[in-house]
Parts: sequence; C-alpha cells; structure tokens
Amino acid sequence: VSQLTQTARTTFGRHRERGGHDRELLHAILDAGTICHFGIVMDGAPMVVPTVYGRDGDTVYLHGSVASRSLMAAGGGIDICMTVSLVDGLVLARSVFEHSVNYRSAMVYGRSRLVSDAAEKLIALRAVTDHVCPGQWDYARRPSKKELAATTVIALPLLEASSKVRDSGPGDSDGPDRDLPIWAGVLPIRTLFGTPIDDPAAARPIDTPAHVSGLVGLATEDRRAPLQR
Ligand SMILES: Cc1cc2nc3c(=O)[nH]c(=O)nc-3n(C[C@H](O)[C@H](O)[C@H](O)COP(=O)(O)OP(=O)(O)OC[C@H]3O[C@@H](n4cnc5c(N)ncnc54)[C@H](O)[C@@H]3O)c2cc1C
Repeated sequence: VSQLTQTARTTFGRHRERGGHDRELLHAILDAGTICHFGIVMDGAPMVVPTVYGRDGDTVYLHGSVASRSLMAAGGGIDICMTVSLVDGLVLARSVFEHSVNYRSAMVYGRSRLVSDAAEKLIALRAVTDHVCPGQWDYARRPSKKELAATTVIALPLLEASSKVRDSGPGDSDGPDRDLPIWAGVLPIRTLFGTPIDDPAAARPIDTPAHVSGLVGLATEDRRAPLQR
C-alpha cells in the first residue's frame, strides 16, 4: 500500500497542503536524514533525545548503550514519537513575519519494541551502520557477543506516520510588501561530507576505503549514490 492510514494524531492542523501520508516520501525523508529525535515521557515529563537510526523496510531501528535511560524506557514498550528534519533553505522575506524555512520532515508515532532476537539485532545494527555510512557494515569488524550484549536496540514500526514538505519562496511575494526595496528569496542549505581525517593513533597507514572517499564533497543525503553507480 503506498499510503499510510491517517489517524487522528497524524491529521494535519496547519498547512495541510504541505503534509501527506505517502509511504515512499516517508522512506525517502528517513533515508535522507542522518539523525532523528525521539520523544518519550520519562517520569511524567517529556524527554527528546537526538540519536542515529536506520531503516529496514517498514521498521526504524534505534540503538545505544544499555546504560541509556531513554532507550531502557523505550525497551519497555512505550509510546514514542520520532522526527527527522531536513532543513533545505532559509526563506528570507521582506517582512520578519513572513520569514520561514524550506524543509522536509517526517514524524513517526508508535509503540517501541525491544529487539532481543539475535538475528534481528544484527539486521538492525547493519541498518543503523549502513544508514550513517553505506558499506561500513561490511568493512568494519562486526560486534562481538559482549558488544552485542552491551547494546540496546529498539524497533519502531512505520505504521502511523506523516511527512511534511515546504518548498517555496517567501510568503509576501504577492502582497503589498513586494514593492519594498528589501531583498527576498531563498538561501539554500546543504550539508556536505568533508575530507576524511586519518586517526593519528592508527598502528600503520591505511588507505581510506573507497566507500568513504567516495562520499567526499557529496551532500549527506546523497550518501547512497556512490553504491548505486
Ligand atoms: C525545520 C523545520 C522548522 C520549522 N519551523 C517552524 C516554526 O518556526 N514555526 C512553526 O509554526 N512551524 C514550524 N515548522 C512546522 C512545524 O513542524 C509544524 O508542522 C507546525 O508548527 C504545525 O504544528 P502543530 O503543532 O499545529 O501540529 P499539527 O499540524 O496539529 O500536527 C498534527 C499532525 O500532523 C503531522 N505533522 C505536523 N507537523 C509535521 C511535520 N513538521 N512533519 C511531519 N508531520 C507533521 C503529525 O502527524 C502531527 O501529529 C517547522 C518544521 C521544520 C521541519
């Protein structure tokens, strides 16, 4: 099914025209992001945690240390809300009031699930590792039993979710402020990969692997492009 079922809480209030429940768009936004923020209620108060994540089909995986309080709470199977925000540009208007941001964002609601099955845990950790740096799972040493035991993995189903996109110019382009002698427009924003920095503590010089050097200068959201060539 290409559309996710809309629920009461994934029904848009403001700017409904910018929102949707298209599964492909949701996946594209999640795949383009690097980190997410997940919100939970901890001891009666909200807590919003930035973290990396990975996607495998219709499941998002979060991981962290077994010492992480928020992940431990999420491992108990609680309602969480996860967001991914991509900032595409500053929308600079003539009036301060009309300033805005161009963006693509995703919001996922769901009940978290602790991943305890060993095979699924590896799938999840691969998804997270390759989400951040495609090809790195096959390149790096795999986790040992002890390391796996020290890692909490949480699954979140992509069932109740929404996406929102703003991709337009200043809101005062067709009003009376258009005639003001003030520059207005969009200042695009892109996050690029820089030049790799070798670990100075390395025991011997090792060439940067192709899956890493291939990312230099690329927008982070295009990190899968070299593998698809
Ligand atoms: C980078 C960025 C900057 C933003 N800056 C501002 C700002 O400064 N001021 C401002 O008012 N708004 C801003 N927004 C938009 C903001 O995220 C909300 O969409 C908007 O404020 C409406 O919020 P609401 O509380 O009325 O939600 P509602 O529209 O009532 O939310 C209902 C449901 O709609 C969906 N939804 C709402 N917003 C989003 C979203 N962004 N992404 C995916 N699904 C969504 C969710 O399923 C949510 O449960 C920004 C968005 C991004 C990504």
